Amino acid sequence: MRIHRPLLSLLALGTAAPRVARAQNAVPADRPALVVLIAVDQLRGDYLDRFASQLNGGLARFRTHAAFFPHAWQDHSNTETAPGHATMLSGREPVHTEIISNNRGVPDPLTPLIGVSGTGASPRRFNGTTLYDWLLARDLNARVLSVSRKDRGAILPIGRAKGDIYWFAGGKFTTSRYYADSLPSWVTSFDAAIPYDRLAGMKWSLLLPDNSYSEPDSVWAENNGADFAFPHALPPADALRSGLQQYPWMDSLTLAFALDGVRATRVGKRSMESTTRNTMPDLLSISLSTTDAIGHAFGPDSREIHDQVLRVDRWLGDFMTSLEREVPSNRIIYVLTADHGVSPMPEIAVAKVGRGGRVWLGDIATATENALEARYHTEFGVEFDNGLFYADIGAMRSRGIDVDSVARSIVAAGSHRPGVAVAFTPKALATSSDSVAVRWRRTLPPNVGWIAAFGAARDFVWSAGKTTAEHGTPNALDLSVPISFIGANVAVGRYERLVRTVDIAPTLAMLLGIAPTEPLDGSAIRELMTKRASAERLKR
Ligand SMILES: [Zn+2]
Repeated sequence: MRIHRPLLSLLALGTAAPRVARAQNAVPADRPALVVLIAVDQLRGDYLDRFASQLNGGLARFRTHAAFFPHAWQDHSNTETAPGHATMLSGREPVHTEIISNNRGVPDPLTPLIGVSGTGASPRRFNGTTLYDWLLARDLNARVLSVSRKDRGAILPIGRAKGDIYWFAGGKFTTSRYYADSLPSWVTSFDAAIPYDRLAGMKWSLLLPDNSYSEPDSVWAENNGADFAFPHALPPADALRSGLQQYPWMDSLTLAFALDGVRATRVGKRSMESTTRNTMPDLLSISLSTTDAIGHAFGPDSREIHDQVLRVDRWLGDFMTSLEREVPSNRIIYVLTADHGVSPMPEIAVAKVGRGGRVWLGDIATATENALEARYHTEFGVEFDNGLFYADIGAMRSRGIDVDSVARSIVAAGSHRPGVAVAFTPKALATSSDSVAVRWRRTLPPNVGWIAAFGAARDFVWSAGKTTAEHGTPNALDLSVPISFIGANVAVGRYERLVRTVDIAPTLAMLLGIAPTEPLDGSAIRELMTKRASAERLKR
């Protein structure tokens, strides 16, 4: 079996000398050969600045040698992983991608996983096109490699197109029948070499000396009140196969897998070596999910999230250096973003600033459903998730139910709960100029049955009593993500203007000189293009 250098170096982190980020914008513009999307799940917009003095790897490059937008929004209501990833390369909001939540994202029993049990997944619900489709429209040979710990993180940036799309399930990287009937040998050999025995029993200790972390460590509310102080021992090998996602090394493994994939699929190299004028770049999409797992368990103000972000920085830096041995940096356009931000853990926020809490309206959904079922002897699917009451409106209308009156009673029942800020019936939502209403309109396509939409107050989260940190509201901290571009035609700088993740795809299209094949919600961020590149673009 081939030895995986990245796998062997997995355990060595912390001993390497700090890597100095390199400037790379002096090289004349060659045709881009590879577009690289790095999505760090739950990386809030303020994190890069908050940890700036301790970053020296990939995140440092995205902060200081890039066009860095610290103020960016996933500008829709249901700030979850699936809708967030679907905006990144589509340039369109959930109302148009029709990916409105995790539950209504990629799960698909018709396309089982290959070689492991678990929920099948496909982009069947995704509507419309993405950057990869626009590249294919110009170059049918354009390739894509997309990897993530989560199925939705791998699938949704690419949309409906097929390609090398892999995610982690049951302790291995795999894909579903939507994409392939069997796994390529580079995937099975990588899976066979995952060093569970070496990871088992390891300790997650701080990367830097104790006094480099200002956050308190022993906070009772963290991690459900268990194992909330460093060091954290990793469980035995068998438990790690399903539990590695809770530890930083899952991200290192994802990056090692991506690098093997780059070498095996030759994404970037194909385009680099082509002499055909119309050759388009290939696409590499990487979604790192552990910041989300650790953020949920320990919260955004924890010592754990601080350490996790530093580790992502180092691993990402190593990955970019290795990638640039395959495809030179001046042929790569990178973009960094996140699928959503995160609100403070309510128990900690209440103790610290006397504000915040958990609010859940699931009991109102149950009561409404039960009352309707008792009267009409059929199901209406009334359920509550992240501020929205879903319902089978067709079934209600066909039985002559006054939908608007049911909606008004749900709004009345929920409006007085502590932590509820605003509530809308479908009629009210259609015309309200309230910012929560506007973001719900950006989220809900006409084919989704729903009967009431709510907004949570600042620092309140939709949660049924677990001690976790959460996201999912349209409040500023949940919307907040960074956006950063690195590339030969990108003007390095810090840009304070508020931009949106739907602007990423049109910006990449502008940098590549290609046209989106459908109307978008976002627009190209023109100010990041170097003056020389803009002038050349006008001449074309
Ligand atoms: Zn999450």
